[in-house]
Amino acid sequence: MPDDLLLRLRDFHEDYFPRHQQRFQDLVAQGQHPKTLFIGCSDSRLVPYLLTGAAPGDLFIVRNVGAFVPPYDQSHGLHGTMAAIEFAVLGLKVERIIVCGHSHCGAIRTAYEGAPEEAVALKAWLRLADEALLPVQPSPEALCRTEQRAVVLQLMRLMDYPMVRRAVEAGHLTLHGWHYVIEQGEVHVFDAVRGAFVPASESDHSGTGPYLPYVEHDGQVLE
Ligand SMILES: [Zn+2]
Repeated sequence: MPDDLLLRLRDFHEDYFPRHQQRFQDLVAQGQHPKTLFIGCSDSRLVPYLLTGAAPGDLFIVRNVGAFVPPYDQSHGLHGTMAAIEFAVLGLKVERIIVCGHSHCGAIRTAYEGAPEEAVALKAWLRLADEALLPVQPSPEALCRTEQRAVVLQLMRLMDYPMVRRAVEAGHLTLHGWHYVIEQGEVHVFDAVRGAFVPASESDHSGTGPYLPYVEHDGQVLE
């Protein structure tokens, strides 16, 4: 008896793939040219393709617990997230970097409450949120504010990556700080000018802005 996952693998091959075969084959023949690096929390409720309406080939994705960006420390350690940022900016030459946190984030909650003793790597990793933590009891409001502060903190760390800063200052790369509110189905966008997160329905751009209009690969200009 095939298990659930095996059935889904067969479904993909027999149902989805034949309908989108050309796109996948083009992406192999021409290679991938994603314009967006998406740094998102590993949370199962955050689904980047659904949120952004992306198709295969659109998003270069790195996900980790909390959607954190390690400090650019030149330690030459085994930093998976750092490697992905370098690959995306230097190799793929992406034009946007999104850092996407979300409501009810277990990483942020655990940063307040502490990880299990045995979770040595998790404890060390969660320290990347330290500067975002508030000196209060973690109420729902405090957790939400911390999730948002953590997104801004990662954007600031991104600007310490020389290749990121260079591309941003040259106008080739834009940064986008998002807080996805799961229960409202809405992303709140960090606006650097207003210094606040603005619901996408009320925001006039998706990035920390303001920026020049973003031109899609098909020439369509997105204001
Ligand atoms: Zn999370």
